[in-house]
Amino acid sequence: MDIINPATGALMTTVQEDNAAAIKEKYVSLKKGQPAWAAKTVAERVAIIETFYQLLDAEKDELAQTLTAEMGKPLQQSYNEINGARARILFFITNSEKYLAEEWITTEGGTQEKISYDPLGVIANISAWNYPYLVGTNVFVPALIAGNAVLYKPSEYTLLTGLHIQRLLYKAGVPPQAFDVAIGAAAAGEAILELPLNGYFFTGSYNTGKYIAQKVAHKLVPCQLELGGKDPLYIADDIADISGVAAGTADGAFYNNGQSCCSVERIYVHETIYDQYVQAFVKEVKSWKTGLPTDEGVYIGALTRPAQITVLEQQIEDALAKGAELATGGKRINREGNYFEPTVLLNVTNQMDLMQEESFGPIIGIMKVSSDEEAIELMNDTSYGLTAGVFTSNQPRAEAILQQINSGTAYWNCCDRVSAALPWSGRQHSGLGTTLSHLGIRAFAQPKGWHLRR
Ligand code: NAD
Repeated sequence: MDIINPATGALMTTVQEDNAAAIKEKYVSLKKGQPAWAAKTVAERVAIIETFYQLLDAEKDELAQTLTAEMGKPLQQSYNEINGARARILFFITNSEKYLAEEWITTEGGTQEKISYDPLGVIANISAWNYPYLVGTNVFVPALIAGNAVLYKPSEYTLLTGLHIQRLLYKAGVPPQAFDVAIGAAAAGEAILELPLNGYFFTGSYNTGKYIAQKVAHKLVPCQLELGGKDPLYIADDIADISGVAAGTADGAFYNNGQSCCSVERIYVHETIYDQYVQAFVKEVKSWKTGLPTDEGVYIGALTRPAQITVLEQQIEDALAKGAELATGGKRINREGNYFEPTVLLNVTNQMDLMQEESFGPIIGIMKVSSDEEAIELMNDTSYGLTAGVFTSNQPRAEAILQQINSGTAYWNCCDRVSAALPWSGRQHSGLGTTLSHLGIRAFAQPKGWHLRR
């Protein structure tokens, strides 16, 4: 498998892909090793993960450089991601013992009752490339702490990062029989689906997620899916600092080159402030430096996958044909590597692909609305349901609107953020199940109800 630097087109290295037999061998070893890992106490496993947490910091320079080289995000954003992943790990280190401890329900009377939280067994973690540390951490860290063995398949676009994660987990003390890496692309993922794993935890696109859910349904094991989104924002008429909100929400749409599951993907703005907001938004977008992700001050680096450029071009073409107006950007940047101009489209409608299909790139549509009711209707006009945000000076107004939006996450005066303490879950085509928070600790355990009669 060739590993290509998306910012330069250069071949970084070539890695041997695992075939189905090699992946099966890894699974068999994990199956054998899982009981010994589960026999450790939660505190012992947490201590090992704490060492991993420290190693991520100690080696962050090399990790950030690898991540930027293989997926194209600006170097500073790679550091931000590693720091963000460490914050999530700290949440699991601090809270896992509490949520995995046995719970006594009744200790009096003839029959005593308790709940224990047992590991699932050997689970698969089939992962995405856009935030490999963050989305990986959501799964393999709590899964390991709960006593599972993990067969981790990093995305083919961030394989070297996946191998760093493996190296550091081993260095921290996770045995190879508790964590292993399946190396490869879709075929490696397919091989994992054929094996009798005890749970499938997937991060990626709706199409692959739907396919995986159908493929493993007959096994009757947990299948969690963290999928894409078409996340809307509504900017109400009473915001105080229009240019500040415009700059902050532009960052929410374009950070990581728009390649975030919770990127802002659609913006609805109240007509009374629309012109001022758009002007400030476009000014902000035009101020960004685009270029090599290793260059100082670059905000828009390279897109990870060359194929996404075609998706962006098609969305822009469709929008323009249906009456949209280009405020800035609109085409690929003519240089070696996968670069696209940060693009803002106005006069858009929900009938355009741009406002319905996940863009996963540096483009955004902004639409004028005349009331909260219209905004709510348009925000809910989607097959996705990951996050939604409202900017207003009025908290009750924000909460009343957000209560009516069918999404797993609600933002008031903020966007494109994740908290380890809150559940991360998509509705509709954005996914199934929950990671992060105490629910995302228990997602990797199966409860057993104990009836104990003396
Ligand atoms: P993808 O669906 O193309 O690939 C995801 C993983 O699935 C990769 O490891 C890939 O090799 C594997 N895969 C592909 N085909 C497979 C098959 N037939 N069987 C088994 N495995 C297979 O997604 P991607 O491009 O890596 O990630 C981008 C998508 O992920 C976007 O839609 C984004 O919104 C979503 N995402 C969601 C979240 C979230 O938390 N909800 C987080 C990050 C990314």
